[in-house]
Amino acid sequence: MTKRPSPISATVDFDADGVQHGFLKLPISNDESAWGAVMIPITVVKNGEGPTALLTGGNHGDEYEGITALMKLASTLEATDVTGRVIIVPMMNTPAVMAGKRTSGLDGGNLNRSFPGDPDGSVTEKIADYFTRVMVPMSDVVLDLHSGGRTLDIIPFGASHVLEDADQQRQALEGAKAFGAPYAMMMFELDAEALFDTAVERQGKIFVATELGGGGTSTPESLAITERGVRNFLIHYGLIEGRVEMPAEPQVYLDMPDASCYVQSEHSGLLELTLALGEPVERGQVIARVYDMTRSGTPPVEYRAERSGILAARRFPAQVNMGDTIAVIAEVVESLA
Ligand code: CA
Repeated sequence: MTKRPSPISATVDFDADGVQHGFLKLPISNDESAWGAVMIPITVVKNGEGPTALLTGGNHGDEYEGITALMKLASTLEATDVTGRVIIVPMMNTPAVMAGKRTSGLDGGNLNRSFPGDPDGSVTEKIADYFTRVMVPMSDVVLDLHSGGRTLDIIPFGASHVLEDADQQRQALEGAKAFGAPYAMMMFELDAEALFDTAVERQGKIFVATELGGGGTSTPESLAITERGVRNFLIHYGLIEGRVEMPAEPQVYLDMPDASCYVQSEHSGLLELTLALGEPVERGQVIARVYDMTRSGTPPVEYRAERSGILAARRFPAQVNMGDTIAVIAEVVESLA
């Protein structure tokens, strides 16, 4: 069955030259607003012919590095800076960003588990569908800025995936490296099927993701890496002029070969990580302890690394529940081919 057109409409003209600030409007009807709309801010900067880059933040509402960097870019990028078209959506899941949460304040939807989406689905599924069927087809390269949010803290990296199309994989990997974060990652996803990433990659487009810190805030360091990375991305794919600026230290290449990179808790309690982010880990080393919070004097449960590498991500809050990811251990590799 063919899907009906998206109920979302744009107040910007994607074909017009110049800078436009507007909204993607999604009709809603609820107790607060009978004839209302979710208003998703969008900025389009176009100058003549050339490629289209889609820059997205706030796919998860509590990942502030990308949101902040794209809000800043949207207010400063000029048409004369650009060859082609830069489309900026700093808060893809606006209802989640407004709620200060990973998921939508309207329907609880996790946008990055809602692709390809549905024009007749929930608010979140409607947003996913619009990106899948309207925004991605008009784009050549997509940069989706993630970070750890409130429950994770993650080393800063540009990421791409193993893809069936070798040329598409190579072009995305080059973009992930050119983002110029301290790390570049070949990422293994726990549940790739419903990701924005997969929706973009299936259309043959170049997709680069990031992780850039976390904890539900941004820092001067994480924001500087993010802003430089967005600029590098646009330079690398020919949207703006300039030279890609790499970090002072040589970029470290990381690989997540399989699901054993993720260390998940089998206990609830008080979490102690024995390592800082970016520190090397040896297989068998104790990386975390979980303490029973209901009584004192009980020895903690120890978690040991199942592989060697570096600590690439950690749970941010000190309280942990069964099933939470405590840590991610990534493998350091010589090169990302
Ligand atoms: Ca995320």
